[in-house]
Amino acid sequence: MELWQEMLRQSVDTGKDLVDRFGFDDAAANKLNSLFHIRINPYYLSLIRYPGDPIWLQCMPDVQELAEDGLPEDPLAEDSHSPVPSIVHRYPDRVLFLTTSQCSMYCRFCTRKRKVGDSSKINMKFIQDGLDYIQKHPEIRDVILSGGDPLMLTDFLLERILKGLRDIPHVQIIRIGTKMPCVLPQRVTPKLTKMLKKYHPVYINTHFNHPWECTPEAKRACDLLADAGIPLGNQSVLMKGVNDDSDVMLELMRKLLTMRVRPYYLYQADITKGTDHFRTPVSKGLEIMDKLRGHTSGLAIPSYVIDAPGGGGKIPLLPQYVLGRAGKNIILRNYKYEIFTYPDLEEEPPNHHPPVERPFKRKNGKKKEIPVEVVEIEK
Ligand SMILES: *Cc1c(COP(=O)(O)O)cnc(C)c1O
Ligand code: SF4
Repeated sequence: MELWQEMLRQSVDTGKDLVDRFGFDDAAANKLNSLFHIRINPYYLSLIRYPGDPIWLQCMPDVQELAEDGLPEDPLAEDSHSPVPSIVHRYPDRVLFLTTSQCSMYCRFCTRKRKVGDSSKINMKFIQDGLDYIQKHPEIRDVILSGGDPLMLTDFLLERILKGLRDIPHVQIIRIGTKMPCVLPQRVTPKLTKMLKKYHPVYINTHFNHPWECTPEAKRACDLLADAGIPLGNQSVLMKGVNDDSDVMLELMRKLLTMRVRPYYLYQADITKGTDHFRTPVSKGLEIMDKLRGHTSGLAIPSYVIDAPGGGGKIPLLPQYVLGRAGKNIILRNYKYEIFTYPDLEEEPPNHHPPVERPFKRKNGKKKEIPVEVVEIEK
């Protein structure tokens, strides 16, 4: 057994552990565990500095989860975009490939709670169907291994999947979405990276939410992956009490860059049953983005996105930089709220591509007027 597997065995993972070690009420602990599995491995547990801190909030169940009935379990309508159980096919040229239901730490804010931790819903026996589906769809050029956490699979099983994908000529790139560098960096071993690099181009997106997660162990894991030629990106979720603060976010983004991890997405929290106490207003996310752009390296700036409820995909949000138009001038403000005008071209220059018509359609097909107006800025 490898070290990381031994560590997993020592996880906090029952209602009884919560009662014995953290003083939870017996009934609440069992309810919470059946709502969504508890698992906190000893590495992630060791990052907690005090009860209720940003690490604690992410991994320790909270009775507020029980009070959130009536919210959707599948807010992104993934199941309706799922042609076979292991595939979510929402975008034209890429799919999510769900490989395992297991994670080394179950995040209390997980948006896929309905499946994660439940091996009857995500399971190795659905893998072949997934490979067959990808094989039959030549438009799929990008496959994102997800779950659960694909690095919960042994190197042997993971390699079987990668081999299967590399046997499909139209699969150009493989991405792996894994939280391991953050939550159990011991999982990243030289043996693993030696295997992964045989299947390039492989990209990894990991998931750090707070600067305290950027430890020497995490850095070592990211170094191993980057040294294997794997570009590393990061997806964070904006969460109340965890990282809804521009200084915290700035520190996180800068630390990620020192670990050779490029911030990719900052997600507005989804509306998922049992996670609503983490949600922040969108204005908070916009404020954070405003305090990043221009104030630090452009490399440190993720795209802030809302994954549209109902399955519309990720929609980027930006603070308001375009203040309006005056004649042919477009009026802009910079990161210091200084105003600039840019003289736009009134006509297409010769030989330019004709504009693509993009009617704004509602779901029922009717054209929708998008109001454009000059906004006033304060500050
Ligand atoms: C996020 C996501 C992707 C990948 O999106 P990118 O913007 O290409 O990173 C693909 N499929 C689904 C269903 C997703 O939710
Ligand atoms: S690692 Fe990802 S899939 Fe697993 S519990 Fe956390 S957010 Fe959910």
